[in-house]
Amino acid sequence: MQEANILFTIHFICYWFMVILYDIDSLIILSNSVKNSLKNQILCTLPMCHLFFYNYTIEYNNFQSILGLLVLIITGDIYFYISHRPMHTKLLWKFHKTHHQGNICVSKSLDADLFEHLVGNLGSFAVGILLFQYYGFIFNIYVLYLWSAITTISVCISHSNSKCYLDNNVHLLHHKLLKYNFGTGFYIIDRVCNSHKS
Ligand SMILES: [Zn+2]
Ligand SMILES: [Zn+2]
Repeated sequence: MQEANILFTIHFICYWFMVILYDIDSLIILSNSVKNSLKNQILCTLPMCHLFFYNYTIEYNNFQSILGLLVLIITGDIYFYISHRPMHTKLLWKFHKTHHQGNICVSKSLDADLFEHLVGNLGSFAVGILLFQYYGFIFNIYVLYLWSAITTISVCISHSNSKCYLDNNVHLLHHKLLKYNFGTGFYIIDRVCNSHKS
């Protein structure tokens, strides 16, 4: 399906552009993180893009749905906290520890375990869209393409280790201290639960 391939290609190009831009100097580009990310993209993200559009109406109108991006950021943040926080328990740490090993860098943005990538990363991308769909609201296809670019570039910036001037270091503190900043974006639940640190 054409739309699934376009959505994936936008994500794929954004991720690898950011990796080349920020990781090339340290040869991190050849690391295990890169291999894991590529595996997650090909074995998980691409098929899930096709599965997503199998059940989703392609909408070329409804341009006002761009306003829904704010809700997608909020729902993605809340969902990511809920899926991420349990990964720091003894029971599930073994599935998450790889992401915390070594220095933080852009290529680590997507190096999660395959299951965590599906549930956490792709889930936080899709949860708001599916919630809207449940109430009969379909996003314009170009807004979905934009959401794919925003989420990909955003997660790359948060792993740039301050190389990108837009990095606020909040996720860097999560990697270092392990007990703060489990969310993303606005870190809403972290702020409510006193686990936000900046
Ligand atoms: Zn973590
Ligand atoms: Zn991370």
